[in-house]
Amino acid sequence: MSFADSRFDADALRRRYDAEREKRLAGPRRDIADLTGTLSRYLDDPYTPVVTRHPVQDSVEVLVVGGGMAGIVAPAELRKAGVTDTRIVDAAGDFGGVWYWNRYPGAMCDVESLVYLPYLEELGYVPRDRYASAAEIWGHLRAVARHHDLYDTALFHTRVTGMVWESMSRGSPR
Ligand SMILES: Cc1cc2nc3c(=O)[nH]c(=O)nc-3n(C[C@H](O)[C@H](O)[C@H](O)COP(=O)(O)OP(=O)(O)OC[C@H]3O[C@@H](n4cnc5c(N)ncnc54)[C@H](O)[C@@H]3O)c2cc1C
Repeated sequence: MSFADSRFDADALRRRYDAEREKRLAGPRRDIADLTGTLSRYLDDPYTPVVTRHPVQDSVEVLVVGGGMAGIVAPAELRKAGVTDTRIVDAAGDFGGVWYWNRYPGAMCDVESLVYLPYLEELGYVPRDRYASAAEIWGHLRAVARHHDLYDTALFHTRVTGMVWESMSRGSPR
C-alpha cells in the first residue's frame, strides 16, 4: 500500500494529540508549559558550562534529536546496519537524557538493571545493583556512546526549535 492510498489522516491525528495535550494542561499544570515564566530556569543546564561554538551547517542522512537512551541506541543500531552518516543533537551538555538531567539523591531505575541497560553484553558490563542508580545508568549510557563513536558528531547544548518537512512532488514524503 502506498502512502497515497493510505487512509492515514494527519490532520485528524494532530487534532487528537492537541485534545489530549489540552487535558493535561488543566489547572496549575499550565504553568509548566509556560517556559517564559518562573519555571524557565529549568531549561538551563546546571551541570555543564555552555561553550560557545561556531554555527554548524551540515547535511546528514539521519539526524537524531535527543541523546537519551533512545537517541543512543538508534544510531548505534543504524551504524551496525551500515548507516554511519548520523548526528545527534541535544539541549543537554552530554549524552544520557533523563539520566543526565535527573541526579537527585536516590534516583534509580525501577526495572531490573539487567533488563533496562542496553548493550551490557557488548560492553562486557555487569550492573552493580539489581536496580541501578541514576549515576550508574548515566555512566553506562556515556560508555555506550563512546563505544559506538557517537561523541564525534554530537552537538550538545543545541536545541531544535523547528523542523520543516521537505516533501517531494505530489505531497508524498521521502
Ligand atoms: C528517575 C527516572 C527513573 C526511570 N526509570 C525507568 C525504568 O526503570 N524503566 C524504564 O523503562 N524507564 C524508566 N524511566 C523512563 C526513561 O525516561 C526512559 O527509560 C528512557 O531513559 C527515555 O529515553 P529517551 O531517549 O526516549 O528520552 P530522554 O531520556 O528523555 O531523552 C530525550 C533527550 O532529548 C533532549 N531534547 C528534548 N527536546 C529537545 C530539543 N528540542 N532539542 C534538542 N534536544 C532535545 C533532552 O534534552 C533529552 O536529553 C525513568 C525515568 C526517570 C526520570
